[in-house]
Amino acid sequence: MSFPFRVGLGYDSHRLGNGGPLRIGGIDVPAEIHAIGHSDADVLLHAITDALLGAISEPDIGRLFPDTDEVNRKRDSADFVIEAVRRVRHRGLEIGNLDCVVLAQQPKLAPYTERIRERIAEIIDIPISAVGMKSKTTEGVGPIGHAEAIASHVVVLLHGVEKPVEA
Ligand code: MG
Repeated sequence: MSFPFRVGLGYDSHRLGNGGPLRIGGIDVPAEIHAIGHSDADVLLHAITDALLGAISEPDIGRLFPDTDEVNRKRDSADFVIEAVRRVRHRGLEIGNLDCVVLAQQPKLAPYTERIRERIAEIIDIPISAVGMKSKTTEGVGPIGHAEAIASHVVVLLHGVEKPVEA
């Protein structure tokens, strides 16, 4: 019998370019910068996707949704999270909670935290109380501090008794 919990860790970072808005956590935050990427470059939803996939030891977002595939160009990253959630539930597992950190020098994300938590809860179909989120600057240090990059870290806890699933 397997242990009825699984933990997953996700990380992502993107380069920043001039001009907003900044897509983060499934919403458009007014900003003078945007994240550069093949899809909508949502660093938080990408880290959530990888945390979920990692928790079930499946291939990461880059292997499931390659940036060489035209289908993924400008794609809403909610699609990636939804597919990861489908794979989790297909195994008979449920998402207990997740906790997220976004590292960005600008814009200030605190005013948008509640909307982002609501949107993530909606995408995953879990209560908002199961979604933790905080934002940090790096106090001007390094590429994030110089507003050249944005990054996100996410941990997720799954619970349930895993069903055998075909590879
Ligand atoms: Mg990414």
